Amino acid sequence: MMNSLYQSKVFEMACDQHAKAAEILGLSQEQTERTRFPKRSLSVSLPIELDSGEIKIFEGYRVQHNLTMGPTKGGLRFHPDVTIGEVAALAMWMSWKCALVGLPYGGAKGGVVVNPSELSAGELERLSRRYMQEMIPFVGPQTDIMAPDIGTNEQIMAWMMDTYSLYQGHTVPAVITGKPVALGGSKGRKVATGAGVSYLVVKQLEAMEIPVDSATVVIQGFGNVGSNAALALANSGAKIIAINDADAGFYNPKGLDVQAAAAYGAEHKTLKGWNGGEEIDAASLLELPCTVLIPAAVERVITSKNVQKLKCRILAEAANGPTTNAAAKVIAEQSDIEVIPDVLCNSGGVIVSYFEWVQGLQSLFWTEEEIFKRLTSILDSARTEVEQQKEKLGVSRPVAAMTLGVQKVAEAKALRGLFP
Ligand code: NAD
Repeated sequence: MMNSLYQSKVFEMACDQHAKAAEILGLSQEQTERTRFPKRSLSVSLPIELDSGEIKIFEGYRVQHNLTMGPTKGGLRFHPDVTIGEVAALAMWMSWKCALVGLPYGGAKGGVVVNPSELSAGELERLSRRYMQEMIPFVGPQTDIMAPDIGTNEQIMAWMMDTYSLYQGHTVPAVITGKPVALGGSKGRKVATGAGVSYLVVKQLEAMEIPVDSATVVIQGFGNVGSNAALALANSGAKIIAINDADAGFYNPKGLDVQAAAAYGAEHKTLKGWNGGEEIDAASLLELPCTVLIPAAVERVITSKNVQKLKCRILAEAANGPTTNAAAKVIAEQSDIEVIPDVLCNSGGVIVSYFEWVQGLQSLFWTEEEIFKRLTSILDSARTEVEQQKEKLGVSRPVAAMTLGVQKVAEAKALRGLFP
């Protein structure tokens, strides 16, 4: 790969996926290059006063991948291993995701190199506010709209919206989505990603004529996405037989009480110490026999090392980029696993974020019923489009989804032309 600021395994992975999609679509070299590289990025240093009085500098990034379809949109990640390359890959995937489901956005992503669980509430607030303050020239309701991702939550979104608004002199709810409902957040946004994952899993089970109440589900990652997918799937009648987070994992072939796990996780911020099942290590969890495996944590967890050991019928990619390209090739060519690709699988989050943005701009709020009706209608259309593209091109479902996203961005770029 050419020398790039974003050079990293995960950026390379996103670029290889894009290259493959561009080749299948027959894009020219110019179209390929114009749709690949992030449009712009900002790197900031964030000096924060810790509770001890010591000043500590954190590093933060924001990458905007394409500005062709409207403002950019994407989450903000607080994680100790975040790099600008990872953020760029996530921004790129956001572009394809937004285009795939038909939202008027380009992709973006942000990151701060920090372990949020090591900060006090006050330190976390100062860091979140400082990040937003540094981002003011770069973001805005018509420029770039942030949302939660790994390590960030509604409270952090509230602090950031407040910071942006104080600098503008008036409240600007549409600069952030994933806010608390009391601050102009959308009903349903908190659960939207997990609910969307669950909706698409049930649709896939139906397509395979597997009754939902006979399905067993294994979930890696029990944060916002994993826990809400677990609750929604359990509600639909599926049996959640294993869950884990970064600290602990639990298994019960008869089914776990995911409501109790979610309550424990909310109280303790970890599953460690929960006693609702037999303990299971992270590697074994992915290899359990099950109907549905849902990676809902970080990138690149299904690799050429463990892909042959998967024993699921459906792989629902709730996380972004959970499957390496080498593993995806093995799944497509050598297994009967049906993949629900990340850009479709977790798109419920950005879809309801879009609803939140629209509601914020209009100061007109929708009912929960309206939100889920519109969400499922968009998911149904996107799912159908992916199935049709898969048949038309004779490719795997992840490649079909990627080509749809890339194609829409390439078309929009061609229509807008070059300036000057
Ligand atoms: P979160 O911070 O709420 O939760 C992450 C969870 O993953 C935590 O339980 C953490 O302990 C666990 N985890 C981290 N590393 C792990 C590992 N190696 N093994 C097992 N568990 C591990 O984050 P989230 O918002 O739920 O995001 C999860 C994934 O979903 C990410 O890939 C994110 O980009 C993606 N996503 C999130 C949203 C959203 O709305 N929050 C939308 C679309 C996609």
